[in-house]
Amino acid sequence: MFSLDIYTIYFLTFLGNFFMFLMLVIFAQTTGFDGLMRHYIYGKLLQTLGGALGLFRGLVPVDFSIIMGNSLIFLGVAVEVYCIVHVGRIPLNKSIKRWRYVVAGIIAGFTLLYLAGATMGVRVFVSAMILAIYSLVAAAGLFFRSDATKLRKILALFFVALAAYQVLRALDAWPRGEHYVLFATSSSQAISFVSLYIHMLISTMAYLLVSREVIDIKLKEAATKDYLTGIYNRRQFIQLAEKLVSLMIRQQKPVTVFMIDFDYFKTINDTYGHAVGDNVLVQFSRGTEAIIRQEDLFGRYGGEEFIVFSPNTSTAETLMIGQRIREVCAISSNNNPDIPKHTVSIGTATMIPETYADLEYLIRQADQALFQAKRNGRDQIVQADIE
Ligand code: GH3
Ligand code: MG
Ligand code: MG
Repeated sequence: MFSLDIYTIYFLTFLGNFFMFLMLVIFAQTTGFDGLMRHYIYGKLLQTLGGALGLFRGLVPVDFSIIMGNSLIFLGVAVEVYCIVHVGRIPLNKSIKRWRYVVAGIIAGFTLLYLAGATMGVRVFVSAMILAIYSLVAAAGLFFRSDATKLRKILALFFVALAAYQVLRALDAWPRGEHYVLFATSSSQAISFVSLYIHMLISTMAYLLVSREVIDIKLKEAATKDYLTGIYNRRQFIQLAEKLVSLMIRQQKPVTVFMIDFDYFKTINDTYGHAVGDNVLVQFSRGTEAIIRQEDLFGRYGGEEFIVFSPNTSTAETLMIGQRIREVCAISSNNNPDIPKHTVSIGTATMIPETYADLEYLIRQADQALFQAKRNGRDQIVQADIE
């Protein structure tokens, strides 16, 4: 059925690892040769060297080629799996140690098996089962985590398929025993070597894509969220509010802007320290997030000034929401001994928007109402009077 040349596929797998190693080294020159990337590059190097020893089995002593070649590949793939599993999370010392023991055991076991005179069929069985286990570890590491994305889950499925092929290869090799010929042309051989080749491609793709995904998510977070409180930063808040304004223009529904400013916040910092001040802001953000409606937007406007945009709110609802935001402060200092008593002043402005410019107008009006609340003695809500 298949008439692929097995030696050629093996050679291509070796070349693939070699060129990926080269590309990654060049890539690391600009992006930094550190962290997981350094490990990944070492993993590729080990696999390339291991593959080379298999390729030149006639030129180097056979025993050395088999023991060293397989050990390097087992180690290289183990490092690769480790990197794929740990992209975007800090490795636990315990899991690194355990993984090291497993890999050392695998290499020692395979070497002893060879020295004990295991047949070619048995050796291929064992090495295929080892690769299957590695693939399953990669699959589990990608799949069973709280932040498993669609990409990770699909890659995990690929690894399960690759593991299944290795099991087939193992079951095919075992009964052949002495008569197993490594580069013999047969359908089952073709399938198993093609799966090794695909493994080389998929594992590198998996590592790079998952790394890229993690970086993209982090960049997006950094660009849209406030680093301290995790709520929207001003720019993202305005962008999302503009979208909601256009919706409300079409629906002819009133919208409300709340400008919230902490009272005498400088005194909180001066009395309790900046860290406590930060914590007050964080607790306020958590509390406010919990009480606003799903469709409301909440952002940090700057310093100790926050902003809420509520689509589809009447003036009466506005007062109620404002009241609940004020209560957030009291609740958080009552529930948490580390949070000193504090209050906020709130200015609100409500109108049915007609143009995009009305968002800016509403913010200005809410800001003036906030100023009025401060002048009136703070710890209160003032609603802007808009015709
Ligand atoms: P007012 O009632 O008039 O608003 O008085 P205030 O002290 O709150 O106002 P002011 O604008 O004088 O001071 C705001 C303070 O908020 C000064 C600044 O150091 C502090 N602040 C701004 N951002 C942060 C932050 O991220 N963390 C902490 N801890 N303090 C902050
Ligand atoms: Mg203030
Ligand atoms: Mg302020």
